[in-house]
Amino acid sequence: MSSFGFKRKTIELRKLFGIRARLALLALILVAPLMLERAHSLEEARNKQIAQAYSEFSRIAQQSADTEREAISSVETVLKSTAHIQALKKASDPGCDTLSASLPVSLPWIRNLTIVSSDGRIKCATLDTLIGLDLSDRDYFQRTRQAHDLIFSDFLLSKYDNEPVVVAAYPVSAINPESDLFIVASINLEWMSKVINDLSDRRGIMAFLLDSAGTVMAAPADLTRLVGRPLNSVPALATAAARAINPEQRSGTFSFPAPDGAKLTLSFSSIPGTASRLILIVDEARVAAGINQEIRNAYIQLGLVCLIVLLGALIAAETLIIKPIHKLVAVARRVGDGEWSVRASDSRLPAEFAPLARAFDRMASQLSERERELIASNDHLAVMASIDMLSGLANRRGFQSRLEFEWAKAQQCHCELSLLMIDVDHFKLFNDTYGHPEGDACLSKIGETLSQVALEAAGFAARYGGEEFCLLLPDTHSSRAIEIGEMVRATVQDLAILHATSAYQAVTVSVGVASLRPNPALNPNDLLEAADASLYVAKRQGRNRVAEHGLARAGENRGAVALAG
Ligand code: GH3
Ligand code: MG
Ligand code: MG
Repeated sequence: MSSFGFKRKTIELRKLFGIRARLALLALILVAPLMLERAHSLEEARNKQIAQAYSEFSRIAQQSADTEREAISSVETVLKSTAHIQALKKASDPGCDTLSASLPVSLPWIRNLTIVSSDGRIKCATLDTLIGLDLSDRDYFQRTRQAHDLIFSDFLLSKYDNEPVVVAAYPVSAINPESDLFIVASINLEWMSKVINDLSDRRGIMAFLLDSAGTVMAAPADLTRLVGRPLNSVPALATAAARAINPEQRSGTFSFPAPDGAKLTLSFSSIPGTASRLILIVDEARVAAGINQEIRNAYIQLGLVCLIVLLGALIAAETLIIKPIHKLVAVARRVGDGEWSVRASDSRLPAEFAPLARAFDRMASQLSERERELIASNDHLAVMASIDMLSGLANRRGFQSRLEFEWAKAQQCHCELSLLMIDVDHFKLFNDTYGHPEGDACLSKIGETLSQVALEAAGFAARYGGEEFCLLLPDTHSSRAIEIGEMVRATVQDLAILHATSAYQAVTVSVGVASLRPNPALNPNDLLEAADASLYVAKRQGRNRVAEHGLARAGENRGAVALAG
């Protein structure tokens, strides 16, 4: 990269890191630890809430399993106590009269209680319409007859009303071997589903009660269509259901993916004393969704707080730093433009800026003082540069600018402007005779004389160079200029400065006069050249005389006026 490109990049970077950006960065640095701390605590809260949710699920699952187990054990108790009653009776007497009394009303999940003879026929029932129904073909009846123990059926449809039921059977022979009766109770699966529903009421949780074959005995309210069907008939749950009903494992937990990619966790536990299992499927994403929403809201609040802090920092920076700087810059600009009276301390600035404003004002006042001095010294220099120190008159430079000024003025008022060109006669000889210092003194005296004449004639006298002088006469026509020229010539001669080598024995001057009315076709040099030409004529005609450009006038013994050109 060229050094120019690098410099430009550096400038751009500096602009980027202006005061506002720096203050915003500072505010961020101050806020960042608080934000990180808050974010950390929010993450902790999220994990805690998820852990709490899971522990609550397992507690509820446990409670549900306990409720189911209590229901099962209450069925067992009813069956066994009824069997005990029957065992005390004669084998031929089924004791139908006491059967209803054996079924307490506090056990709503038992739909009915029956006494079944060894051929499978219902002899007594809490529901009269069941009497005579043949249960000999039912698997549970055959198993209890063989096992001589309590048996719970898998999912069944009631022979009586085709409703889903689970049936428990207990042989009286387990207490009295002489009896061939069986006590059979059918359990209301709707009641079981109610427990399941209570559990599935929570967002992200599904609970099922399965029999040993994996058939759904109870399901959440929105999935009751699954009751009576194997859980693995649901394609999404097929593999997981197969794992959950593995008879070798009584309980367990594992994760599996749902078809939509969500992560599901399945917990299963078998209900003691039965072959049924409680299955709990938790959708982690849905469980976490509520918690995540809360955490997201907290993050949004945090972001808003940061935004407010940043905005506050920027507004404060604008008011406390940027504005005062702009005020100082504005004052500096006005001072730079020459408004010396403006003061930074007049603006309302924060206390921190007061010393800067005072220093700035001091600097402005010193600058103003120096400028005043500079202007004065420049004016002085300008005057000095246009004054001739020897004669005290204006020098050639001063004369030139005055000539231009008077020229313009005369052009405006269409006035006549006259110029006398005055040269000391034989001044070289004077110097040679009396020395240079004496020559200077002579020039000084002539200067004084010219200055007096200028005062009288309202003209402007100057030393044109060497021993040459000039007298500018504004608004003066040529005859008056010749008169003034004559006055100059005579006054110098009257000074009677001894000049032994001059024909007049005194210092004399020759005067060339030129007069014209300035117009755009002429310029100041024309006047100078005309006066110079007249002077040349005066010299040529014998010196100590006045010559006019284009006009000749004879002088008497005081001198002569000649025609130049
Ligand atoms: P002319 O009558 O033709 O003018 O003769 P001139 O001798 O005056 O003229 P010239 O040009 O030959 O000489 C001018 C002299 O003026 C020469 C110079 O030494 C003298 N001079 C010019 N400036 C000064 C000055 O400032 N001081 C002194 N003392 N002499 C000066
Ligand atoms: Mg000369
Ligand atoms: Mg001369």
